[in-house]
Amino acid sequence: MDQIKIGKFIATRRKEQGMTQAVLAEKLGISDRAISKWENGKSMPDSGIMLELCDLLRINVNELLSGERIMAEAYDKLAEENLLAMRREVEEKNRQMLKMEYLIAFPAVIAGLIMVILASFIEMPIWLRIALIVFALLLIFTVAFIAVGIEQKAGYYECQNCHHRYVPTYWQVNLAMHMGRTRYMKCPECGKRSWQKKVLTKEG
Ligand SMILES: [Zn+2]
Repeated sequence: MDQIKIGKFIATRRKEQGMTQAVLAEKLGISDRAISKWENGKSMPDSGIMLELCDLLRINVNELLSGERIMAEAYDKLAEENLLAMRREVEEKNRQMLKMEYLIAFPAVIAGLIMVILASFIEMPIWLRIALIVFALLLIFTVAFIAVGIEQKAGYYECQNCHHRYVPTYWQVNLAMHMGRTRYMKCPECGKRSWQKKVLTKEG
C-alpha cells in the first residue's frame, strides 16, 4: 500500500466534499492532527474508523486502499452500453428479416394470384390452365413456408395473458390461425391461448 498516494487521495476527496481537516476530524470524533498525519502519508486510518471515513469521503474501502477512484461505474456503464448495442443489433437484424418476409411473400402471392386469374379467364388449352394453377399454388405455398420460417426465427411472440415472450416451434407458428403476424397460439408459460403479437425483443 502506498501511504503517500492514499494520503493525497484522502486530502483530495475531503476537499471535493467541501470539508476542512477540522470538520472531518469532528465528524469522525478524532483530532485533526490524525487527519493531517494520514494526508501526509505518515499514518493510515485504523480499520475501526475506515468505513465511516469512506462513507464521508464517498468512496469505498477498496478505493481508499488503492488511493484512487476505481472506475467501477465506468466499467459497468461500458458493459451496459455493449449489451444495449448488441441488443439493438439483434433487433435490427430481426426487423430486416421481417421486412424480407414481406419482400419475398408479397410479390410471390401477387404473381400467384395473377397466374390463377389468367388461367381462369383467358382462352387456353385445359392442360395449360391446370399447369398454371398448380404452379401458382405451389409458388404461394412454398413462399408461405419460407416466410413463416423467417417470421418464426425473427424475434418473439408475446402471450396476451401473462406477457411471457418466447420463440415457438416452426409448426406451432405455421399451423396457428393468424391475422398478419399476430397468431393464435398456446403460451408455454401459463398454458392459455391468446392472440400473440410479434415482438422484437425478449424483454418488454
Ligand atoms: Zn402466458
